Amino acid sequence: MTCKETKSLLNAYVDGELDSAGSLAVETHMRGCASCLTDVQNLRGLASAIENGSLRFKAPARLKRSVQAAIRTAHPEARSSVFYWRWAGALASAVLVIALTWTATTRWTRSSEETLLVNDIVSSHVRSMMANHATDVSSSDSHTVKPWFGGKLDYSPPAKDLTEQGFRLIGGRLDYLDNRPVAALVYQRRHFINLFVWPSTKAAIREEKQLARQGYNLIHWTQSGMTYWLVSDLNFAELSECARLLKE
Ligand SMILES: [Zn+2]
Repeated sequence: MTCKETKSLLNAYVDGELDSAGSLAVETHMRGCASCLTDVQNLRGLASAIENGSLRFKAPARLKRSVQAAIRTAHPEARSSVFYWRWAGALASAVLVIALTWTATTRWTRSSEETLLVNDIVSSHVRSMMANHATDVSSSDSHTVKPWFGGKLDYSPPAKDLTEQGFRLIGGRLDYLDNRPVAALVYQRRHFINLFVWPSTKAAIREEKQLARQGYNLIHWTQSGMTYWLVSDLNFAELSECARLLKE
């Protein structure tokens, strides 16, 4: 595994969310990579700091006195409100600690959620080829594939036939990703291509995103309220062409 691939898995690794093969791959890489090892140590440090609240610290008395002295010098009329300032200071540092913890936690959760989803997508793609179970309905006719999903999903996935453009529709299958049943449409251009489609939970339209994971290429975008993930070991140039055709 490359350093870049390893780094994308470190959050999930520290959270104990990787399967044993994934953990082993990360540990093997870390044995020869000081940078990734340091990252893991830092992530563990951050996790335990958030857990036991040691990120919160009390301002030293000396700082407090010098702030109060500065206020008294600048605003002699504030002398009577030292009590107010003490409370305002305490409140401000509490708000800061909450904000910092919240930001660190949500950013962290979001990145490991996406890492997990990407891992699931790649696993699903690999499984569909390994188990010789690429499709539940085999047809290159979108008028056969599209209705097949009716009654199996609460949305209607697009099943575009791109045979003329060089991406043959092989069929479709039901899969389970992001805690819900999703449609997988299978295309082929030398290599198998899985297209996963499900309704998007995010309101904002996101830019197309390309990433490589475990030797597979992925392209992700959202369009008309749907989330799309293309995955294949086809090169990025051809996979992007497939994405472009699907978006049209
Ligand atoms: Zn590394």
